[in-house]
Amino acid sequence: MSDGATDTRPSARFAWGVASDVGRVRRINQDRAVATGTVFAVADGMGGHRGGEVAAAIAAEVLAVDRPLPSVDALLDLVRQANAEIVEQAGADLHLRGMGTTVCALAEIVDPVEGRHLGVANVGDSRLYLFTGGRLTQVTEDHSLVETLVRDGRLSREEALRHPQRNILTRALGTDGKVLVDGWELAAVPGDRYLVCSDGLFNELDPDEMVDRLGEADPEEAARHLVEAACAAGGRDNVTAVVVDVLEAAAVGPTGVATTTVVDPDADDPLAARTLRTRRALPETVSFDDVAPRRLVVPPGVDASPGERGGGAASAVPPDGPGGTAADNGTASTIPVRPAPVLTWRLGLFVGVVLAVCGLAAAALVTYARDSWYVGVAGDEVVIYQGRPGGVLWFDPTVTEPVGLGVAELDEADRAEVTDGVVFDDLDAARTYAQLLVLRARDPGS
Ligand code: MG
Repeated sequence: MSDGATDTRPSARFAWGVASDVGRVRRINQDRAVATGTVFAVADGMGGHRGGEVAAAIAAEVLAVDRPLPSVDALLDLVRQANAEIVEQAGADLHLRGMGTTVCALAEIVDPVEGRHLGVANVGDSRLYLFTGGRLTQVTEDHSLVETLVRDGRLSREEALRHPQRNILTRALGTDGKVLVDGWELAAVPGDRYLVCSDGLFNELDPDEMVDRLGEADPEEAARHLVEAACAAGGRDNVTAVVVDVLEAAAVGPTGVATTTVVDPDADDPLAARTLRTRRALPETVSFDDVAPRRLVVPPGVDASPGERGGGAASAVPPDGPGGTAADNGTASTIPVRPAPVLTWRLGLFVGVVLAVCGLAAAALVTYARDSWYVGVAGDEVVIYQGRPGGVLWFDPTVTEPVGLGVAELDEADRAEVTDGVVFDDLDAARTYAQLLVLRARDPGS
């Protein structure tokens, strides 16, 4: 056990161990762990000042439920509730603006019909692994920039491990009032072991090392040794591990019916053999390269003469369109026909002017939105963005380069500035400021 973890014992159905460490580089541990006997979770906070700690603590508090949940939807609802509370607090306190957290949770579900099984919820890049029969299988999928690039075939798994922007998330709690949460329902199989952990663990240890530590019989020892190994391997981030052993297969639900899911112990794919249902939200489709301006939509320009021929359909007829209306020909029984617009030189000139004005306005907008750089925060790293903080219309800022500096390394004043975003007219000026930040963080006397 360590600081920052909620651990409520005992449970007859699980055995577990929790360990967390600030690591070798960061000054603050923004990870939080939950282990109540029915919910086991990790939240990895991010954001300037103490925001990351606060966001992770809110998530941990909301998830610290000490009774089985009635469905996986109840677990997903808890995650959404945590998101709403983080967004609300961030909106109410300037110092907490921009805070966020990942959350990865494993929970006991006792359904009146289906009996006991496990629910999983995930947002961000903390992970749940299944360890069974000596094999380690990743259950959750990261919501991160590098995972998106790997999925799109633009980055290999090996490149992703070393990618400088591997900390950038595509989903987190606290960034938006609406959050997409991935969910799974898994069979509870006695003898299975699960690991919930923050990225500070799996970024430092290769799978073989994780398997070695997870092979230890006692879950508390396994959790502690996993965290110690990650720290010894570099400890460049906060490290948290929750190791959970499943002890019993069946539970008696409110209907008095005990149910057990039979799982083939020799299945080729142990995760598939245990998966009852998945409720994964749609994957990200956003490209994290420079955002291409969307197609310019030209407003309709042919509606040139409102009032000239009255309202309704007639107003769509250009000034030099066919003269008169259907009523002019004196045949009242004729069904009115809307004349087709005819492109004349005046209409052509008008459309040309509209396009030119729209083009100039769009060019000015692009220049304003993209011709600037700012030093800001991505996850828990300081980075240089192209664009403006918060974006302009559909031009979202894009990460130009990492600074190689953790937000937690900054002093309070610099963190506050960087969290807001410090804007420059050119990239070199942003780089100079970033270097100044590095100097101040690593050599406070400078
Ligand atoms: Mg982390």
